[in-house]
Amino acid sequence: MYSNLSAYEKIVGSREIEEILTLADKIKGISVVHVNSTFEGGGVAEILRSLVPLFNLAGIHCRWEVIRGTDKFFRTTKFFHNLLQGISFEGKNKISISEEMLDEYRRVNEENIKKIDLTSDIVIVHDPQPAALIKAKKDNKWVWRCHIDLSNPDRKTWNYLSSYIKEYDAAVFSLEDFVQSLPLACYIIPPSIDPLNEKNKKLSSDEIKSVLKRLKIPQEKPILLQVSRFDYFKDPVGVIKMYRMVKKKVDCQLILAGGEAKDDPEGPEVLTRVREEAGDDSDIHILNLPPESFFEINALQRSAEVVIQKSLKEGFGLTVTEALWKARPVVGGNVGGIRLQIMQGKNGFLVSSPEEAAEKVEYLLKNPSVACKMGKAGKRLVKDKFLITRHLKDYLRMMTEILN
Ligand code: UDP
Repeated sequence: MYSNLSAYEKIVGSREIEEILTLADKIKGISVVHVNSTFEGGGVAEILRSLVPLFNLAGIHCRWEVIRGTDKFFRTTKFFHNLLQGISFEGKNKISISEEMLDEYRRVNEENIKKIDLTSDIVIVHDPQPAALIKAKKDNKWVWRCHIDLSNPDRKTWNYLSSYIKEYDAAVFSLEDFVQSLPLACYIIPPSIDPLNEKNKKLSSDEIKSVLKRLKIPQEKPILLQVSRFDYFKDPVGVIKMYRMVKKKVDCQLILAGGEAKDDPEGPEVLTRVREEAGDDSDIHILNLPPESFFEINALQRSAEVVIQKSLKEGFGLTVTEALWKARPVVGGNVGGIRLQIMQGKNGFLVSSPEEAAEKVEYLLKNPSVACKMGKAGKRLVKDKFLITRHLKDYLRMMTEILN
């Protein structure tokens, strides 16, 4: 980690850093705690890993706490997650949350209230899992930070969750489409990536090659890559179908790089389904990577001709941002936060089916100069809108407002 913010200056300029310090100065002396449900795996942990140290570098005392839960608790909150993102079936079965599961949700949150110090001036709670911690609110300020796609939530589930959210002082959503009617201040703050961390820093071509070699990925055929937790919303099976269509036209290989998140119990089941679908095709590489594989993911993203993020629902899609920053064209599902990042035909393509995705990927593989131009446009977009320094400024502004 860096000892001050100036390490970012050469990317974002000195003015941006001055603005951060000026904003931080206005609320100097306050304390902040971020609370979520996992230290590793998934976008929220990825953001907090960089954002929390940056708050401290800006002079704001900031901590990161993680709630502990039982298997039953995380099964319940994954049901919340699916229902809030508009999916009400698991296979042929309708998802239903029993009273007993709701009791577990409340009980685990109550247990965590006893263990976590929630007395900071501002408490920022991420996503539904720890939302019921609000019962510990005293006279400090509480913010609910929603990272999921709430464009079409199951109403019953949202009504339940919002009974907690209503007690917060403010809520933050990643985009306008997700904002719900709530009796509190609502802010739009899109997520971001850290250009200097292990996941996004520059790598040499030797470093990239050595990772491919270590992961046993041959370097002759063009690479299509999707990096995602093994989750139905990320449509890994649809990605394999897409790859099979492309493969008939252009010889290529597919990497599905995933990993597990402690707060996502569905991972192993989805991984099994993905392996079945891939069968014995030696050009499909399914990588179940340990959570700290930041360097490996960086190298994989830099080695891909085209990055795919064929999500069916997506709060934001940091994997899209990461790929764009590495000047890769991205073919992504036309949903949620991916729409904020892919400008049709400029830095990639938004698609709604495996067929459409295959057509665009084939086009990019056959037109490398177009792909290269799109990659550069993607990098510019991320520099302008989705770097962590902008994110930090948005948080500081929001915090200043709610404290006044
Ligand atoms: N990620 C990772 N290892 C994996 C899969 C994903 O480090 O095996 C990272 C990925 O690089 C990105 C984050 O986890 O930084 C996923 O964030 P995103 O917003 O794309 O999706 P989420 O998992 O939060 O739904």
